[in-house]
Amino acid sequence: MAANLDFASLGFGYIKTDWRYVSNFKNGAWDEGALTQDDKIVISECAGVLQYAQTVFEGLKAYTTQDGHVVVFRPDLNADRMIESAKRLIMPEFPKERFIDAVKKVVEANLDYVPPFGSGASLYLRPYMFGSDPVIGVKPANEYQFRIFCTPVGPYFKGGVKPLTLNVSDFDRAAPHGTGHIKAGLNYAMSLYAITWAHDNGFDENMYLDSATRTKVEETGGANFLFVTKDGKVVTPKSDTILPSITRRSLLYVAKEYLGLEVEEREIYKEELSDFAECGLCGTAAVISPVGKIVDHGKEICLPSGMSAMGPVTQKLYDTLTGIQMGKIEAPKDWIVRIK
Ligand SMILES: *Cc1c(COP(=O)(O)O)cnc(C)c1O
Repeated sequence: MAANLDFASLGFGYIKTDWRYVSNFKNGAWDEGALTQDDKIVISECAGVLQYAQTVFEGLKAYTTQDGHVVVFRPDLNADRMIESAKRLIMPEFPKERFIDAVKKVVEANLDYVPPFGSGASLYLRPYMFGSDPVIGVKPANEYQFRIFCTPVGPYFKGGVKPLTLNVSDFDRAAPHGTGHIKAGLNYAMSLYAITWAHDNGFDENMYLDSATRTKVEETGGANFLFVTKDGKVVTPKSDTILPSITRRSLLYVAKEYLGLEVEEREIYKEELSDFAECGLCGTAAVISPVGKIVDHGKEICLPSGMSAMGPVTQKLYDTLTGIQMGKIEAPKDWIVRIK
């Protein structure tokens, strides 16, 4: 094992590894791309990304399965989503096959940093793209850089599962017909004020409502919602202004096809929150983090699943999806891409 890393005690922070992937887009085409050891980027002081935030990103994990293989989970969906994000910001598409190939190359080159099975840790991959040539009048850049770096990250539920307390935010995350559905830094820059406020006031995350009517549940800053009704149905918000989480889509499939649960994607009103039995946040980082309490301007909605453990359905979903990822449960076709 390289780097003498204590994988079990890692947090979620940046640790420089040996290799990263770079490809440049110039004169209307991507170059062939390559791995590099150079972790520094040199761009114009006037680069499009620095002036007008023309950048999109992705996030996925590589990890070691029970039988010792190194795999990544559904990278094709990250490739597709990055293409959709890029289109919305008038950026060139990085081809899907090349995206998957670059993911494989980065993991292969950094195998020493992939945490062992059972550590709960993983190798987080961060593909991203940005406008790299000078832009001063507001317009899309002409040149772009696509990169993937990776960093080992620790177990999400270090020290046990702690259900989260959410704040129903007075800030909005996404405008109707805006950019809420793409994975772009711009959606995060403007959320920093709201999350800092939430943390300063004792909350773990913000629950954002739809900005048009402020009556419907959307998502948090970086994870989609999944609710369980008292009669065991799995429900998730339907909205054009939330980011289509790959974890949420995978969990819905697991709920239906592996657990035989009824699933429903529909508008969810804030007024319904007190009717649910369980609530979780889904994303690559944690798979599902249970929510114990939602606070709406002083009014507390306490989920029956409580503040000390995951609810039973959330737990089953979590165990099944992580079981699929770790090679303990047979995966649907093409969900797991083996690298070693
Ligand atoms: C990345 C992200 C998610 C989670 O998506 P996954 O594909 O499951 O990791 C949810 N919401 C937002 C805003 C995100 O940026």
